[in-house]
Amino acid sequence: EIPEQSVPEFVLAGGASRPDAPALVDGLTGDSISHGQLATYVDRVAAALAARGLRKGDVVAVLCPNTMWYPVVFHGIARAGCVMSPINSLYTAHEVAFQLKDSGAKVLVTVSPFLDRALEAVERTPVDEVVVMDGAEGHASLLDLISSDAPSVQVDIDPAEDLVTLPYSSGTTGLPKGVMLTHRNLVANVSQSRPLVELHEGDERIIAVLPFFHIYGLTVLMNQGLQWGGTVVTLPRFDLEQFLRTIQDQRITRAFVAPPIVLALAKHPMVDQFDLSSLRSITSGAAPLDEALAQAAQDRLRKGATDGVVVAQGYGMTELSPVSHTTPDVTRLPEGVTAVPKGSVGLALPNTECRLVDPATGQDAAPGERGELWVRGPQVMKGYLNNEEATAETLDAEGWLHTGDVAIVDANGCYTVVDRVKELIKYKGYQVAPAELEAVLLGNPAIADAAVIGVKDEESGEELPKAFVVKAPGAELSEDEVVEFVASRVAPHKKIRSVEFIEQVPKSAAGKILRKELRAAG
Ligand code: ATP
Ligand code: MG
Repeated sequence: EIPEQSVPEFVLAGGASRPDAPALVDGLTGDSISHGQLATYVDRVAAALAARGLRKGDVVAVLCPNTMWYPVVFHGIARAGCVMSPINSLYTAHEVAFQLKDSGAKVLVTVSPFLDRALEAVERTPVDEVVVMDGAEGHASLLDLISSDAPSVQVDIDPAEDLVTLPYSSGTTGLPKGVMLTHRNLVANVSQSRPLVELHEGDERIIAVLPFFHIYGLTVLMNQGLQWGGTVVTLPRFDLEQFLRTIQDQRITRAFVAPPIVLALAKHPMVDQFDLSSLRSITSGAAPLDEALAQAAQDRLRKGATDGVVVAQGYGMTELSPVSHTTPDVTRLPEGVTAVPKGSVGLALPNTECRLVDPATGQDAAPGERGELWVRGPQVMKGYLNNEEATAETLDAEGWLHTGDVAIVDANGCYTVVDRVKELIKYKGYQVAPAELEAVLLGNPAIADAAVIGVKDEESGEELPKAFVVKAPGAELSEDEVVEFVASRVAPHKKIRSVEFIEQVPKSAAGKILRKELRAAG
């Protein structure tokens, strides 16, 4: 039941019946590309790449912010049979070089503001051409590619074998790993998500604010937006005011976000100044989302004209193309289930098997108990590039992907992700989840944001929870008050042992807390 198609064939078919409707809109300027234009441009880019000698399986790296041209490049690369490796826009030249070398990229596509960094990075890598989307002296531009008169290409793609993208995992727990995803992986994942959404065909306007270089942002491009015939509105980065204004002015129906955006929607005074009544749902993913926060954001948004807006969740990872679990729309809940509890990441997608395994024994956890989540399905990656050891550790011989996340499932099949196995703080035989303590901290109105890590106590050898706290503007708050606030709400072994006030919690562009940085800072 998974279409035997390449990613561009499958995704672009969504707009074929409405060639004049906008496929992509630049959220800043209002410029747009229609579905018909998109299909033509994608063909032109593929032809231009083939004319440069690029062949099936060659890697083209992309170092660009979100713009409406990014998908043109992505699908063009894919149509040529090449593999798009998206690079984090915030990477230094050194980090960009690592990915270029590791992936073996032959071409790098970038934009003029990033050109110096790109040129520094390509030295001593296999890259032999740098394309600058918006043009730069001595480099081909996107306009050159789409206006070239090279003949169209027909590349024979085997969806189950051929790679379409090579994203790198976020590097939250170690060095980023190149994740090999096939055409079939992505096509399967878009198809799997489809039955869970009540689609207003041709009337979905999706805001794409999460970076396309992260697999979550990339999938927003394919799902309801393009494959389902709707419109994707791009923003280059998250700025709360710009985000809210775009939802209002572009009548956005769905937003895919990460927890920092939900935090802003729940807490920031500016939210009430905009008309957000066009929204049907907001889905948060990429990091744990606290139940109270999700509820607060939803209650707040429902104060507007629409009473239907739902704050939902999805769970996934780069290795899962990326989704394994999501909250279905209310009309798509299985029989007998009336709601997905807030804080849950929802149900396993169709065709997705799950196990919760006790990491100590390798046995399935008892019903209602926590365990490491294992996933098997057509969205599971082929493996990590150049890294057999990591592949063997993550993907077992029976096809189960060991996610490294701890989860729990209720009687209705709704999963809740507790935290990463690696992040759990081990204290006197207990395991304390930082995400749980962070959620408690965020419940304090004097706290704007918070992060928790375990700090080794030299004397006892135990890991002690330490909180990094950002005070709300104008709030008075002492370290003792923070410790006391948490202590009165959690079991004694979960108490916060030390507090540090900071200006901002370091987070990745995809919205993950960068605990590595907190650890390094002390
Ligand atoms: P690396 O693997 O390189 O250390 P990473 O795991 O952060 O980085 P991604 O693939 O971007 O790289 O992120 C996947 C992880 O994000 C999951 O393993 C999980 O820990 C977290 N995650 C994603 N969605 C959710 C969610 N809804 N709730 C909790 N955690 C989530
Ligand atoms: Mg990971």
